[in-house]
Amino acid sequence: HAKAQGRGEIQPYSASLRTESGRRLTLESHLRRALAQDELFLDYQPKVDLRSGHLAGFEALVRWRHPEFGVIRPDEFIPIAEETGLIVPISDWVLRTAVAQLGAWRAQGLAVVPVAVNLSARQFLQSDVVASVAALLEASGVPSDLLELELTESVSMADPERSVVVMRGLGELGVTLSIDDFGTGYSSFAYLKRLPLDKLKIDKSFVQDMGHSTESLAIVQAIVAMAHRLQLSVIAEGGETADQVAALRKAECDQLQGYYYSKPLPAAECADFIRANAAAAPVGAL
Ligand code: C2E
Ligand code: MG
Ligand code: MG
Ligand code: MG
Repeated sequence: HAKAQGRGEIQPYSASLRTESGRRLTLESHLRRALAQDELFLDYQPKVDLRSGHLAGFEALVRWRHPEFGVIRPDEFIPIAEETGLIVPISDWVLRTAVAQLGAWRAQGLAVVPVAVNLSARQFLQSDVVASVAALLEASGVPSDLLELELTESVSMADPERSVVVMRGLGELGVTLSIDDFGTGYSSFAYLKRLPLDKLKIDKSFVQDMGHSTESLAIVQAIVAMAHRLQLSVIAEGGETADQVAALRKAECDQLQGYYYSKPLPAAECADFIRANAAAAPVGAL
């Protein structure tokens, strides 16, 4: 590259690139220690049933409390983790922690709702995820229908044949399977039909554009209608306004996970959320 640049040519982005790649390198080396130093934690974002308004579950979302930089979002460090292979131990930790949290809520006698965990590509395609999920559920005594696994179309399309096998294995365990960020990938309905899927999660870009884009509204409505015809339930991600909630209800979308109801919360606050939900409408014993 240097050769192609004439002498004295201005390189407007070089300074910011230096800082960005500097931060990245720093994060990369610090991420190696993050797990050992207990710097990762999970927040849980409520999912709400759009018909009843009741709590329907949570999604576990990983965060990194960096000693100097503060809390770092997964969008920044998950790609680094994927590239370095650190995603494997991190993913194991996330899965173990989420299942342990389910176990803790059950032990407190709370009316527990399912918790969803995001599966990374490496975890899904390289490690024996079916065996590790089975072992985790067995060891914790958490019923498999309390665990939901989210994977993106790009993860599943990276190796479609293997995905079908892995998902069937997970489906047989009784965990709920959903496709995350649905609508942003390229999987065909013919392919989706082969997967033992329970749920589609509509990407927030469509949800957030519904108000000013008739195309996005049409896409959301079409996804819901198509999913229901395939016996899949539908959750929308990222709903923030009353108008979006009304449009989603009108489209007969089943659930919403969005700031309109709640941002991701620390585990302790989720317990209050579960209690409030149970008080308003008692759910059966555990
Ligand atoms: P995702 O799985 O699609 O998770 C939803 C993201 O949308 C979360 O961002 C959530 O905080 C955000 N969100 C939810 N409702 C709203 C809303 O109303 N408005 C807006 N603006 N945002 C909303 P978060 O926590 O930053 O996570 C980003 C992504 O990082 C996740 O997207 C997921 O792909 C990845 N990620 C998070 N935790 C894990 C993990 O444990 N393992 C793996 N492999 N990936 C993870
Ligand atoms: Mg997700
Ligand atoms: Mg998503
Ligand atoms: Mg998303």
